[in-house]
Amino acid sequence: MIVENLKTVQNNIQESIKKRHNIISQEVQLVAVTKNHDVEAMREAIDAGAVVIGENRVQEAQKKYETLDRDVTWHLIGHLQTNKVKHAVKIFDMIESVDSVKLAEAINKEAMKLGKVQKILVQVNLVKEASKTGVYLEDLDELLKSIDTMENLKLMGLMFIAPIVENLEDVRPMFNQMYQLFTKVQKIPFKNADIKYLSMGMTHDYQIAIEEGANIVRVGTAIFGPRQY
Ligand SMILES: *Cc1c(COP(=O)(O)O)cnc(C)c1O
Repeated sequence: MIVENLKTVQNNIQESIKKRHNIISQEVQLVAVTKNHDVEAMREAIDAGAVVIGENRVQEAQKKYETLDRDVTWHLIGHLQTNKVKHAVKIFDMIESVDSVKLAEAINKEAMKLGKVQKILVQVNLVKEASKTGVYLEDLDELLKSIDTMENLKLMGLMFIAPIVENLEDVRPMFNQMYQLFTKVQKIPFKNADIKYLSMGMTHDYQIAIEEGANIVRVGTAIFGPRQY
């Protein structure tokens, strides 16, 4: 099933790319979200062509990282606590969920110890959902500015999780707003950043996200089926 599902998602991505009106880059990166799925499922997806893996918990990722005998790019997509930063920096090529100066500083410090430049995205809480992490719009500029002073971080773009809505089309204006924000951030003269990714869209809304400009989508259920908790 995983192999067929992955193909379907990849085809849907290509279809959505054709319908795009906001375009950051021609390619869309698919993050296969493997949280709550086992290493066997991960291998199956990777062998079928998945090149980026998304995990939302450091501890779970760590166990899988030790057993997974595959060469793959790791993205952290879940909230990161400062006491897990040390392990996160060892595993993840990209940390998509940076949302505070404090967290950025902790990542910078651990990356420095490893002699690594950690790629990050800043997660934006566009509609101020209390239940979600992510930086509020009014705090975004300050966060971006301080990240730009941290030599072991490389800011690569923005990440957004859309709220659950009754009518799926209601997320479209939010994705569009994120795209507008992204193009604004791209114009900021950073010393150190390379703003090229806008990560948004999950199983139920990745096609809309791509149409509105996403060039990273994070898809779990559509590839691996429902998660067992
Ligand atoms: C779990 C998760 C996803 C994938 O969700 P699906 O609905 O299974 O595609 C994407 N992004 C984040 C941040 C997640 O936590």
